[in-house]
Amino acid sequence: MINHNYIYNLLEETKNATKEDVRDILDRANNKEDLSHRDIAILLQSEDENDLKEIFKIARKIKNEIYGKRIVIFAPLYLSDYCANNCVYCGYKRENNFKRRKLTRQEIQEEVKLLEKMGHKRLAIEAGEDPINCDIEYILEAIEAIYETYNDNGKIRRVNVNIAATTVDNYRKLKDAGIGTYILFQETYHKPTYEKMHPNGPKANYDYHLTAFNRAIEGGIDDVGAGVLFGLYDYKFEVLALMLHNEYLEKKYGVGFHTISVPRLKKAEGMELSLFPHIVTDDEFKKIVAIIRLAVPFTGIILSTRETYEMRKEVIEYGVSQISAGSCTGVGGYKENEDRKSKSQFEVADNRKPFEVIKELIDSGHIPSYCTACYRMGRTGDRFMQLAKSGQIQNVCGPNALMTLMEYALDYGNKDFQDVINQMIDREIVNIEREDIKNLLQEKIDRIKQGERDLY
Ligand code: SAM
Repeated sequence: MINHNYIYNLLEETKNATKEDVRDILDRANNKEDLSHRDIAILLQSEDENDLKEIFKIARKIKNEIYGKRIVIFAPLYLSDYCANNCVYCGYKRENNFKRRKLTRQEIQEEVKLLEKMGHKRLAIEAGEDPINCDIEYILEAIEAIYETYNDNGKIRRVNVNIAATTVDNYRKLKDAGIGTYILFQETYHKPTYEKMHPNGPKANYDYHLTAFNRAIEGGIDDVGAGVLFGLYDYKFEVLALMLHNEYLEKKYGVGFHTISVPRLKKAEGMELSLFPHIVTDDEFKKIVAIIRLAVPFTGIILSTRETYEMRKEVIEYGVSQISAGSCTGVGGYKENEDRKSKSQFEVADNRKPFEVIKELIDSGHIPSYCTACYRMGRTGDRFMQLAKSGQIQNVCGPNALMTLMEYALDYGNKDFQDVINQMIDREIVNIEREDIKNLLQEKIDRIKQGERDLY
């Protein structure tokens, strides 16, 4: 699936691409035409300042045309830090000696209530890999506990899952438990590096990890989210490999990645960043996000709080469509946030509270969205992609985002904040072209103001 020699050759052949080559690719990218592997390699190789400016400009335009001003908000929830692996870069590695724990059902519900109090509706659950202490039954019970937790302001409406590669049977169980996206980062597609980074434990098997989405899709999960841990190997190789993996799934199953996450390596317990020779610079990181946006315009890009506020602000413009907010990367982290007692998996760089993130997004012209409608309407996998590619995403997701923002303002905001949101909605409604959608949105906003919730 990931032919290493093919990627090495592509990167070699495209080292000396001409200005005309780049110009031609950018023109096609500007029209959202498909880019070939060679095209993507040429963009990855480009260092010219003007070419890069142009890449950013087109990425921004594509982002605006497809996703508009919306940014989907979510939070991670760490369930268990037991781990049978020894991933060189990870704070949860087996050889790190600390008191490990997993949340009880009651603790999960306490964490969820705190997350709901912050306004969250969408979670990504995270756990280390440990077949004994954190088996699939534990994960399934956790998902059930999350969906059953109610607060004054409602409940979590979508649980995405980021757990280790598993079997078709287990993926089927996750599907039946009502998960949204199954997320798994390949960490690195470069096999020799993968083997160095995962010296032992179940995750040491490159092929088993790489074929996890095959099994997930065979188990009925049609929304899968990929990612690379940038900093383990050459980012140019990794971006091309991501594209090959995506195409492989599209060809085999008719649907590729729903999202791509772009985590960058951070300091963690028991590892030193200086020992990793492929650390991605800020400029390279921006280029990665923009090129992914050009290469797969309809695939969501997820950014976490590993990045600073400044970096998040910038790359949101170049293509990011989902961000986490107010995240804790330790088990029980939300409850223990005050005294920082929990052990984090890695350091976060954006420590702002969700409300600050939301306010800042609004101030910079974005529409934060807590929408989970597609998943609950069954618009997953290829059905979601059809919606995205038909350009209808604006007519559907835009109004849904505004409804969830109205709910958020009423449930979590003060009068001033509610005024800001009301003004924003008035401005946005005027811009909606279709009269029927305009009227429907207005009617639903009024119903939300009367106290109804969860309309879409
Ligand atoms: N245990 C599961 C697995 O092996 O896929 C779930 C993954 S873990 C909870 C989530 C992700 O955190 C990992 O896939 C890895 O990419 C990321 N991660 C681990 N250590 C990191 C570090 N030092 N800096 C940034 N991200 C890290």
